[in-house]
Amino acid sequence: MGKITEMTSTVPLNDSIYFAPLLPWQSEVWSQLTKRVLMPQQSLPHALLAAGMQGMGKRAFVWRLVAWLLCRERDSNHLGACGVCESCQWLRSGTHPSLQVLPIVGMPINADNANNKEAANITAKDKKTAKAASNAALKIKVDDIRALQPFIYQGGQGMRICVLDYAEQMTVAAANALLKTLEEPQAQVHLFLISDTPAQLLPTIKSRVQQLALQTIDPAVSVDYVTKALGSTVNREAVSTAAIEQLIQLANGAPLAAVALAQAPWYSKRALWITTWQALRSGKRSSVAASDYWQTQLSISEFIQLSELMLVDMRRVCLGLDALQKDVDLSASLNNYQPAESNFEMFINNLQQTKIALQQNVQEKFAYDKLMQELAYL
Ligand SMILES: [Zn+2]
Repeated sequence: MGKITEMTSTVPLNDSIYFAPLLPWQSEVWSQLTKRVLMPQQSLPHALLAAGMQGMGKRAFVWRLVAWLLCRERDSNHLGACGVCESCQWLRSGTHPSLQVLPIVGMPINADNANNKEAANITAKDKKTAKAASNAALKIKVDDIRALQPFIYQGGQGMRICVLDYAEQMTVAAANALLKTLEEPQAQVHLFLISDTPAQLLPTIKSRVQQLALQTIDPAVSVDYVTKALGSTVNREAVSTAAIEQLIQLANGAPLAAVALAQAPWYSKRALWITTWQALRSGKRSSVAASDYWQTQLSISEFIQLSELMLVDMRRVCLGLDALQKDVDLSASLNNYQPAESNFEMFINNLQQTKIALQQNVQEKFAYDKLMQELAYL
C-alpha cells in the first residue's frame, strides 16, 4: 500500500533547477540583480514578483536566484550557486533552514524522481486523492501566511527567503495578511512571488512588489534557444527554422513552452486530426472506429489539447486570417466546408465537458467515444 507523504511545501521536485544554466534571455536581469546584491551601498528589493505566462522560465530564474542568494560562495561566484557548499547541500536535500515556500501541498512529492519503489506502490486511488489534494492545496490561506511570521521576524544573521508560488492563489485574507508583511520590510528577508496570471493578484499587492523584467524575449534569442534545445532532445533530423518559428508562435512567444510543444506526443498528429475530422464529417468513418484508433495513439487529455490547437487555427481561417500552422494545410481542408461559429462553440463546450467528466473519473474509452461522435458534427 502506497502512502501519501506528509504535508510538505512546493519545493522543486528536481533539485537541478537550482543549478541549471541561466536561460539566455535572462542574463541582463541576472547581472543587474546580482550586482545590486554585491554592491556595498545597494541591496535587493524586499519583494520581487516573477509574473507572466508559463514557459518563459520565470520559475527557473527564481529558484536559480534563490540558490545563489543563499550560497556561501556567492561573493566569489557571480554566475550561480556553487552547488557544493552547506547551503547548496541543504537545497538539494529540500531542508534549507533559511527558505520557506508556499503553497503547502500534500502530495507524493517524490513520485516522479527520487523513490521509484515507493512511487510504483502508489495506487491509482492514492494518485486521485493526491491530485485532488494538490489542486485544493494550491490555495494559499491566511494561516499559511501567519505561519511564516516567526520565520520572517526571527531576526538574526544571514539572508532568509520566502517564495510564494502561484501567488494568485492567495485568498483575500491571505493577501491582506501578506500586505502587512510587505509594508514592514525586515532586514535580510526577501520575498519572491511567482504568478502565471498576475492579473488575478490584488493591486495593493502588485504595487508593493517589484516586477522582474523577464517577459521580453528577443525573437532571435528565442529561435536560437528552441533550435538548440530541440537539436539535443528530438531524435530526428534538424528542425527547420520555419518549424521553430511556428512552435514559438503557437506557444505565444514562450520558448520553454515551444520546446514542450514540439515534444508533446500529439503535436506530430495534427494532419491526422484533420483527416479524422473530415472522415467523420463525411461519414466515411464511424465514430466508434475513430475512437478505437485514437485510443491507440493518444490519451484523451492529449487528444483534447490537440483539438484545442486545431480549433484555434480553424477559427482563424474561417475568420479570413492566416493559419498559425503553415505545415498543415488547413485552408485546403476548409475549402469545401467551414464550420459555423456556433459549431465551434458547441465543440469547445464539448471539450470542456469532457475534461470535467474525466475529473469525475468517467472511463477514458467512454469519453473518447462520445467526443468522436461530437467531432462528427463540427
Ligand atoms: Zn553554494
